Amino acid sequence: MTQNRLSISDPIRTNDIMRKYKLRAKKSLGQNFLTSEKVLDDIVDASQLQPDEIAIEIGPGIGALTEKLAQVAEHVYAFEIDENLIPVLHDTLSYYDNIDVINQDILDVDLDKFVKDHDLEGKTIKVVANLPYYITTPIMLNLINSDYPFKALVLMMQKEVAQRITAKPGHREYGSLTIGVQTRMATRIDRIVGKNSFIPRPKVDSAVVVLERLDHENEGITDLKYFNKLIRSAFAQKRKSLMNNLLNWQGRNDDTRAKLKQVFTDCGIEDNARAEQLSIEQFKKMATELQATFKK
Ligand code: SAM
Repeated sequence: MTQNRLSISDPIRTNDIMRKYKLRAKKSLGQNFLTSEKVLDDIVDASQLQPDEIAIEIGPGIGALTEKLAQVAEHVYAFEIDENLIPVLHDTLSYYDNIDVINQDILDVDLDKFVKDHDLEGKTIKVVANLPYYITTPIMLNLINSDYPFKALVLMMQKEVAQRITAKPGHREYGSLTIGVQTRMATRIDRIVGKNSFIPRPKVDSAVVVLERLDHENEGITDLKYFNKLIRSAFAQKRKSLMNNLLNWQGRNDDTRAKLKQVFTDCGIEDNARAEQLSIEQFKKMATELQATFKK
């Protein structure tokens, strides 16, 4: 059924669709359409979607990734904010009966409610998307912190953000975003994608990131709110030492300094350490010790 048509991502077909519907990619909505079949196939491979699994796509654009997902998943739910693209998608995806296109801003969608309303509880759901880059972080954090445990997220994003969320301790990119993500998900960069794989060409290079839910999310964190506060405070001023950042948080006086020094010693952390040198495990231990010490 699909053999005789060019894929939507084929540059000839993408340009034809854009001409037919007089489409001009909207920069304000981060519209950069993928025109590399190889990249799309790699994204779908990375998702390892199975025929009984559900895909949620954010920002289907003109449907290049959507059609590939529909070829492997049981069903695809695709959220697109731009109402001008809805009739285009109905046309380009008309060959598939397992796709629902939903005209909504993904940041307004209550995904937990969506899953319940569509009887998807218990299903393996994966989110696969070439994200609109202007809202990569809020979209990703919503997905990670959602009550529904999405099994995997395969997300194309700007390379620089990808490096931050996959960073290891000791690297420049390691920071509060890294830790916020890696306490719940295992992360890796699947591949880097150059600017020429899109119409129009974006200004930055991109990367496909695979995020897989950890079996024991947030294990070892006794109070998540407190842990998050510690992380925010520890990285508040990246040039300063961890001690200085924590003094700013807890109050700069001799008593606090002495208590902090004791916690540092107990956690095996040097007095002059910087936040980016600590592993997530060290931050977890530190959060528990700090909370106990400062409650006294
Ligand atoms: N998936 C297509 C592809 O790979 O060619 C298009 C990807 S394009 C980078 C991002 C898409 O997200 C655009 O279609 C844009 O209109 C859509 N979008 C932007 N902001 C959105 C939002 N808040 N909610 C849902 N879709 C959004």
